[in-house]
Order: sequence, then structure tokens, then C-alpha cells
Amino acid sequence: MNASLFSLFQSRFPADVTRPFIETEDGKIRNYAELDAVSARFANLLVRLGVKKGDRVAVQVEKSPEAIFLYLACLRAGAVYLPLNIAYQKGEIEYFLGDAEPQVMVCRPETVDWIGEIAARKEVPHVLTLDQAGGGTLIERSKDMKPDFTTVPVKGDDLAAILYTSGTTGRSKGAMMSHGNLAANALTLHRVWGFGPGDVLLHALPIFHTHGLFVAINCVLLNGTGMLFMPRFDADTAIRLLPRATMFMGVPTFYVRLLAHAEFARDIVRRMRLFIAGSAPLLTETFNAFRERTGHTILERYGMTETGMLTSNPLDGDRLAGSCGMPLPDLELRVADDAGKAVAVGEIGVIEVRGPNVFGGYWRMPDKTRAEFRPDGFFITGDVGKIDAHGYVYIVGRAKDLIISGGFNVYPKEIEDYIDRIDGVVESAVIGIPHPDFGEGVVAVIKQRPGGSPTADSIAQRLKGELANFKLPKRIYFLDELPRNAMGKVQKNVLRDRYKDAFGPGR
Ligand code: AMP
Repeated sequence: MNASLFSLFQSRFPADVTRPFIETEDGKIRNYAELDAVSARFANLLVRLGVKKGDRVAVQVEKSPEAIFLYLACLRAGAVYLPLNIAYQKGEIEYFLGDAEPQVMVCRPETVDWIGEIAARKEVPHVLTLDQAGGGTLIERSKDMKPDFTTVPVKGDDLAAILYTSGTTGRSKGAMMSHGNLAANALTLHRVWGFGPGDVLLHALPIFHTHGLFVAINCVLLNGTGMLFMPRFDADTAIRLLPRATMFMGVPTFYVRLLAHAEFARDIVRRMRLFIAGSAPLLTETFNAFRERTGHTILERYGMTETGMLTSNPLDGDRLAGSCGMPLPDLELRVADDAGKAVAVGEIGVIEVRGPNVFGGYWRMPDKTRAEFRPDGFFITGDVGKIDAHGYVYIVGRAKDLIISGGFNVYPKEIEDYIDRIDGVVESAVIGIPHPDFGEGVVAVIKQRPGGSPTADSIAQRLKGELANFKLPKRIYFLDELPRNAMGKVQKNVLRDRYKDAFGPGR
């Protein structure tokens, strides 16, 4: 049997393939027949370009139905889909193309000049373009391709996608996700969240990340129903579309913005069945305010790129503020001490997991992979948490030094490395400070050389264009010395305390 994720989706397509799959903001509808035909054309083009099973196809494009069809084309062709955040700039793209060695890179028309140069240097054979309106050389070159394609047979552990996560060491790691990993997680989520024939998802998340791509799109495809597609989240549009939707998935920032909107009220959400939140902690304040305003209780879940989703609050049963719910079926989750031994109920430790959705390892990083798995196969998430007597999981912090700003992960080390290379800088420490809108905001604290010249403005300018916007420090401070502990480690907790009001008092 073909274990392709696409074959699984196909087995769930509606009998009537003229049923809608994606409706875009202009009211245009792509149905399941178009999904099938366009993804087949793209798959035929990939094969024509020499893409073989296991070859990578890197994609940095705006959110559009065609981008989803390209993802599906990769699954059909047995290629490895490699989505990249559209915020990534030259430094990052150079690294990804060198590390992943894709056969094809698909980018936006406006970036093809500089990406083309990098691709040529990195010996990427083909560069194609795709714009948000569904134009570009990918479309032109696939027009004459046949609208049918026999899905390439794969095994469950063959790779379907690589998703890069920022590394604590500054180097991004490519999480290798297999067809089996993605299928297992999607089937579970589809079941536990009670997807059914009448469901319509309002899709407002980016599609280069596990949340918007695998959690949202894969569940909809398993359900064979449609979604309303927003190019990006904004509260006005969400409020206009929510009356037609039954499900919504968002990062906590989306919920904060909806609540800040004067028109967001009960009648807007009358058809809604389920609001889901994740990717960063949902504040109790937001959870409560949302329930009061709408009568709906947000269902919080927890997961990560490497593993897909791990826990969820129940569909039927108590959804608890501050908890990300219970481990999903088929998943083993333990809270462990430094040696990987489970601690007692209620005690704090690092969350470790094992299950069919957990990835096989990091692309071309066997040492890193080994370091993050226990000998018994449990993956060390790096999240610090506890489980209560009823089985609810609470995340209390992160062992890894991660900042989550607006739902995006920022690893301080990567930004510190860039800042430290600037003339006149001795060293830097990058921290996350509570931010009313983004959850956390990035703050850099810098030690200059004596008589050093860089200013906050000049440093900000230098980082722009090198790093994605969401990684750029929103505040830059200078200190004569960074505080250090007896072991010589910079005490980030001292800095966090010192600058805790950087984005407003008492946050
Ligand atoms: P990513 O790989 O980008 O999905 O980020 C995964 C990380 O986001 C996890 O390791 C957690 O630190 C954090 N995260 C995801 N969901 C939650 C949640 N519900 N509560 C707290 N942290 C979360």
C-alpha cells in the first residue's frame, strides 16, 4: 500500500469534487477537482525538472491556494517539501539552500533576482516564481502539463517535509517529517477535535509553519471540506469572515487582537464550533476575557515543529486556563529529570515524548539528533512543565532559551551572533520581555568597546535586511558590563528583570 500522505487525503476527498476547498478573500473558490488537476500539473513539472523521490523543493512564497497545491504536488511526486518563512532574508536563504541542497527553489517574483544569485552559487538547478495572485513561472511552465499524475509510492518513514527550526546554537536545524509522522498526527487531531461534514475553517495562519500547514491544512484535507483563506491575520477581516466559519485556529496574539476590536461580539461567532489556540502560551486573562465576550471556551493545545501536536484540552470535558490539556492518544509523554527519569505527579521537569508523530531527526545533524533523543526513543522537547493528578499538562517555561514573539520563535543566540559581529560591539545578550501585543518582544542589551561608536539606530539598520523582521530587537540598550554568574554565564534573568517594563509598566 502506498503510505503517501497525499493518497490518504485523496481517499477522503468528497465524492462531489466540485465542493469547495479554498475560498480566497476575493470570493474565488478552488474546488477539489482543481486541487487534483493543478497539483498534478505541478507534480508533472517537478518530475520534468528532474525531481526524484527524496529531492528537496524549497518554497518561499506568499500564502495562496497555489502554494498549497505546490505542497500537495511535492507529496505526490515523493519530493520533500521545504517551506520557508517569507520574512527570511539573504543570510538565512543562503544557509538553507546550502544546507538542504534543493533541486528546485520556488520564490516570489520580487525576490527572484537575489535568490537567483544565491541559488546559482549554491548550485540549485532550478528557480521558479509564484506570486500571491497565482501567477509566475511555476504557473506558466506547468500550463501544458497533464492534469493527472500517479502518486509516487512511498513508505511511511520516507520524508515528506523538512521544516527548519531556529537552533539554540544559532544554526537552524531541519526537522525531518515523514509521511507517517504527518499522517498519524493529522488523523489524531481530526478525530479528537471532532471534525465533521459541516465544518468550515477560517484559516488565518501562515503556511510555512507546522501550525498553519500541518495542523490546519492537513485536518481540512482529511475532512474533505472547505476553508476561508486570509492572506494574513487582521481583526477586521476575521470579524467579517467568522460568521461563515465553524472553526478557527490561532496563536494567542490573534485572540488578543480580536478582543481589542470593538465590534468583536457574540453574534459574530454564532456559527462557530471550536476556537483553538497554540504555538505560545495563552494567558489566563485572554482565556477568561474571550469566554466572557463570546461564550466560547478556547481549546488550547501544545506542540512543536519536530513532533507535531502533543497535547490538547478536551473537546468534551473541562478546558482549563493555563493548561495545554492532556497528551494526545497514541503519544507517550513524561515529565522527566535530567537523566530522563519520570518525576512524580505535580513535579516540574522537562517534557519528553515518544509516538508515531515524533520526527526521525535533524537533517544532516546526527550528533544533534542523538543529543535530543533518549536511548529509549523519547525526544527531549526542551519545554519545562508538569502534569497534575488529572493528567493535564502545564508548560512553565523553556529549558531552551527561546523567545516567542507574535507566535514566531526567536532564538537569542542567532541574533547575538549577528550583533557581536558588528564593529564596536564587545558582546550582546538578547532576551524576551513581556509585550502587550506580541506576547514577548525581542530586546538586545549590548556592551560596546570603550569609545565604541555604534548607536541603537545604526545597529538596528545593520540587522535589517539580514534577519527576518520578527527577529529584530524592538529595543536596544547599552550597558558597561553584562551581569554574569560565578560560572561566567550571562545572567539573562537579571536582564529580564531590569528591562521588564521595556514595553510598558507592569506587563
Ligand atoms: P514551534 O516549533 O515553532 O511550533 O514552537 C514550539 C514551541 O512553542 C514549543 O516547544 C513550546 O515552547 C511553544 N509552545 C507551543 N504551544 C504552546 C502552548 N500551548 N503553551 C506554551 N508554549 C507552547
